[in-house]
Amino acid sequence: VTALAADIGGTKIRVSLVRGEEELDTRLLPTEQEIGPEGWLQHIRQAAQDWAGRFECLGVAVTGQIDGTMWKSVNPQVLSVGGAFPLVSALSEICDHVIARNDAQAAAWAEHIYGAGKGLDLVYLTISTGLGGGIVCNGKLLRGHRGLAGHFGQISPALADINGSDEPFEKSATGRWMAHEAAKQGLDISAKDIFENMVAGDAWSRQIIVTSARRVANLCRDIQYTLDPEVIVIGGGIGLATGYIDDVQNALLSTDPSQAMTIRTSAFKDRAGIVGIAALAAQSHL
Ligand code: ADP
Repeated sequence: VTALAADIGGTKIRVSLVRGEEELDTRLLPTEQEIGPEGWLQHIRQAAQDWAGRFECLGVAVTGQIDGTMWKSVNPQVLSVGGAFPLVSALSEICDHVIARNDAQAAAWAEHIYGAGKGLDLVYLTISTGLGGGIVCNGKLLRGHRGLAGHFGQISPALADINGSDEPFEKSATGRWMAHEAAKQGLDISAKDIFENMVAGDAWSRQIIVTSARRVANLCRDIQYTLDPEVIVIGGGIGLATGYIDDVQNALLSTDPSQAMTIRTSAFKDRAGIVGIAALAAQSHL
């Protein structure tokens, strides 16, 4: 089965023809926030026209909440869809088989079907500008009652964090948080710059990264006590940065061996969402 697949994120939109874990054709476009969902969907409609006859189903992965067939923002700062948008019905003229899921949930499915947690029960975490996740439990992708399962960025580390941060993870461990901490020091730099400064020996940058990694380690421990997955797979621009997963693992060294967890790097990098949503669309088509 070949799927037309799209991944709509806060900064970029990826539209691809996907068969298995392979992208046969790909388009990358910036997400123009001001044109709104109908504008973003035009990229999918255009690709559907250009690639007519080459796909049998359509899958769309998006930042935010898929509540039934409706798309809603969870963090409007990342992407605002303006209330509830009827995503599935808006695309039903393209094809009979349309499926929509949260992007990190789709990514979790890609890791389960083909990737770093193949065949395993897993939690996928993406640590990027924000923090998202997805859960595969008993071989099934968990959506949750309202499509919110795996939105780990919204959980507050509160008491688990010895530094006493009571902000949710999205605001206390992510790339946006790192840039915000730098801004407090009068520095207009990105998380990527902070990683580069750390490699060049800057102690403050090291401290910021270790703090983020320790908070993510605490999140992994909470996940272990909640779901006890076989593996936790980490991706995203921060999660994949050199040394970051090692820092997370170092923060977990004192864990009782009988409660130890396996943490792995994403097999797909920025392709996990599109491969996962294509697999879900293909499955629903069969
Ligand atoms: P998005 O958040 O749009 O999904 P990414 O997963 O690429 O995109 O995450 C972007 C975040 O990762 C930004 O905070 C950026 O500064 C940071 N980042 C990107 N590349 C690197 C890198 N090579 N090393 C460290 N941080 C990076």
